[in-house]
Amino acid sequence: MKPVIWLFIALLTCAGLAQADTFKWPQGQRAAVSLSYDDALNSQLDNAIPALNQFNLRGSFYLTLASEVVPARLEQWRAAAAQGHELGNHTLFHPCSKSQPGTEWVKPYNDMDSRTREQMREEVMLANSFLHAIDGETLRTFTPPCGHTQTADGDYLNTVADLFIAIKGAETNLPEVFGSLVLPDGQSGTELINFVKQEAADGGLVHIIFHGIGGDHLAVSDQAHRELLEYLDKNRDLYWTDTYRNIMTHVNEQLD
Ligand SMILES: [Zn+2]
Repeated sequence: MKPVIWLFIALLTCAGLAQADTFKWPQGQRAAVSLSYDDALNSQLDNAIPALNQFNLRGSFYLTLASEVVPARLEQWRAAAAQGHELGNHTLFHPCSKSQPGTEWVKPYNDMDSRTREQMREEVMLANSFLHAIDGETLRTFTPPCGHTQTADGDYLNTVADLFIAIKGAETNLPEVFGSLVLPDGQSGTELINFVKQEAADGGLVHIIFHGIGGDHLAVSDQAHRELLEYLDKNRDLYWTDTYRNIMTHVNEQLD
């Protein structure tokens, strides 16, 4: 069993203003499940979206807009949005901090350590415009690349917060201990299902942030992914699986 890579975003642990005991998911489900797919990868169009459609589930696809897979398969991304999947903002160039461990692959010109907050806002705004041109949507959510948010002149999340209805891992209005987040890498279907069962036991919002599905990086197999979807489909009374945009629209309405 490969170790699960846990991403601890400091803001995730911020105490929310609301209480979990007054909070309800739309049909009284135990938990909401947000399936994310980051970085605009071929295997997401080839494997993830057909599987989601087969089980009539919807996911959130955080596009790195400079990915060559965006222009090469633009009509397929547009079709995915028309099918109810979410196209989310993951910036244009996927900058990460080279001062953080495991970032040897980050190109020097994409080093967040040398960006400023204003530069990040401009990049993120342009990414929103690009996404609007693809899907026509106006409500957008954001996943910070690598979870890194420190620029040369400070944390940039506040400078982009007004552009989004929610930012993954930084849901400041969620009840305390409501969110849990995992980045799979090679897990089996059973391991993915057990993660959902374990994290949903006390209610809340379960984030699974996928990358490759049956290919590409940080991949799980097409079969493991399908086993998870089959489980979520068969247990709709327990889990509300939907786009992060739809889930957070509900959260914002409940907790504003
Ligand atoms: Zn990413």
